[in-house]
Amino acid sequence: MDLFEKIEILGQAAQYDICGSYLCQGKAGHRQKSPLGRWIYPAVMPDGREIRLLKVLMSNVCENDCLYCCNSCTQDFRRVSFQPEELARLFFQLWHSRRVQGLFLSSAVAGNTETVMTRMLETVEIIRWRYRFRGYIHLKILPGASFSIIEQAVRLADRVSLNLEAPNPQRLQKIAPQKQFDHDLLSRMKWIRKLADQGWRTRGGQTTQFVVGAAGESDKEILTTASSLYRDLGLRRAYFSAFQPVPGTPLENHPPTSLIREHRLYQTDFLFRQYGFSVDELIFDSQGNLPLKADPKLTWALNHPEWFPIDVNTASKEQLLRVPGIGPKSARRILKLRRQHRFRDLKDLSAVGAIASRSAQFVLLNGKRPQMSKQLQFGL
Ligand code: SF4
Repeated sequence: MDLFEKIEILGQAAQYDICGSYLCQGKAGHRQKSPLGRWIYPAVMPDGREIRLLKVLMSNVCENDCLYCCNSCTQDFRRVSFQPEELARLFFQLWHSRRVQGLFLSSAVAGNTETVMTRMLETVEIIRWRYRFRGYIHLKILPGASFSIIEQAVRLADRVSLNLEAPNPQRLQKIAPQKQFDHDLLSRMKWIRKLADQGWRTRGGQTTQFVVGAAGESDKEILTTASSLYRDLGLRRAYFSAFQPVPGTPLENHPPTSLIREHRLYQTDFLFRQYGFSVDELIFDSQGNLPLKADPKLTWALNHPEWFPIDVNTASKEQLLRVPGIGPKSARRILKLRRQHRFRDLKDLSAVGAIASRSAQFVLLNGKRPQMSKQLQFGL
């Protein structure tokens, strides 16, 4: 098999982030494929730049049988692996021809975790030292990796990630019975934090991913875990991936998770990271899920009339960030511009990037409740 046949298979399998790829071969088809090619993805860097990443697996051979995953050992399809030399050379060719600017390298668990991760590290070492690539590399840490492997990974990579998949041991048991939540996953994330405290902090930090809806977990369980990871382990980002059943797996008849649920989780994640919200403040339904009909910030505001109206000309940054329609950028602009002039009407709010029609019922402008003009009412 030539290199480009291999990358077709292993790039396709990486698109939804192994270890945890339950949507391989594009079966769900609900996400956009990159116009750049099936194994090259645009990605936003920690500093906001957008670059093209080669996203690929070292191998799709797996000894585990996670119930949601198309790479599970119970699945019958073509298994392939890269040698470190060939993957490094392929990356160099793509980088040299300016088709990619960075690498996202993951793998299924082909036998011993240590062996697979050693091959991943060898690949990255060749890319770094022989080919002198100084750009962005994201390395996936496989469950159960040793401390010394993780230590090497954080020295070589710009970002490392380890997918928890589920919010706690009980939920993980239901979908990935061979993985131990505390021993294989959480303890490794703590090591990454420990190394960061010792000065081995990767530029892009550590991230994780949850499969949403496969284990019957609630949004509250996911968000409670994510929020403690932000607080205790300095997690940079949590990613949420709506479960879609893969034919032939034990969960093939499990209902798919709606993308709106995934979207609400991302909105809430922003509230944690940029708006100062905590899990305890969120509004959940009786099953512990976020309401799907309205965004979580609006839901919170409608349930807390005692906070409003907020006077835009005197409110603190924290108060402004609680107003639906006002985000971190518009709050910063309000604080800066109101030193020069008072905010008198909704047009002043629109001018700083706020969604004035959404903010109107929650604010005072010039000491009064603002009147909605026809243009704002209809979003013109
Ligand atoms: S360990 Fe589980 S999630 Fe990862 S590739 Fe293997 S079966 Fe899939």
